[in-house]
Amino acid sequence: MGSLVTSLACALDTYHNKGSWLIRIDDIDHTRCSQASSLSITQVLEHYFSDLPYSHIYHQSDTRSLYIKEFNRLASESLVYQCSCSRKDITALQQSQGTHLCRDKLISEFRDDTQDILRFKSSCTSLDEQLIEDAILFRRDGCFSYHFSCVVNDEYDDITHIIRGADLMDAEQPQAQLIKALGFRKLQYHYVPLIKNKSGQKLSKQNKALPITMSDDAPLTLRAALRHLQWSPNSLKSMPAENSIKALLNWAAKNWQPNLNFI
Ligand SMILES: [Zn+2]
Repeated sequence: MGSLVTSLACALDTYHNKGSWLIRIDDIDHTRCSQASSLSITQVLEHYFSDLPYSHIYHQSDTRSLYIKEFNRLASESLVYQCSCSRKDITALQQSQGTHLCRDKLISEFRDDTQDILRFKSSCTSLDEQLIEDAILFRRDGCFSYHFSCVVNDEYDDITHIIRGADLMDAEQPQAQLIKALGFRKLQYHYVPLIKNKSGQKLSKQNKALPITMSDDAPLTLRAALRHLQWSPNSLKSMPAENSIKALLNWAAKNWQPNLNFI
């Protein structure tokens, strides 16, 4: 449901701005993604958004060569180091306010045969800032990181606006550092409020939230997702009573507020 709300905000904002909506399935984390899950995401999106079409759809796993190319650019500028610290080591380092010695272990090109994390060497001088902004580029389990892969894909896809869940607000700072170091364009970010359960937890697979399925009452689900996007009370009064995806999306596209200001 959270993904549907975010997709809805993306689709409506793009449509309103006469832009082009691209869907990228972030599937590089092979420990969490399966082909079956990305197929059902695609099916649900096609089911709900056939009237607000997207330009194209692709998977991050298809663009690994771009990550290696951009990684090597950072590495050639002495901006990548091997970090052998465990989470426990990082916590201990933070508590002792010592020096992160791994920062001297620079590597000059991409290698995936290491047991270490490969990190970006930011220009930050304080340890606390380094621990946030020395973003992970390549993980111990053999995956490029979320921060790095998104930044690379956003540049190559000519993305201008990112609309994502409020749980990703913390990603903005480390991603901005990577964008700067790689000489990429700056992006505009907007955040959609999270849907939470009664205990205040984000709805997610980890919290056993049920996925949207093709057998759901789609107009009813869409109506609930739309309501989450904080329309003005006046706009809401004009929401059509007709239970059809097309009527609801037409109404939403016409009434969309271009300046997203959810958070
Ligand atoms: Zn380290």
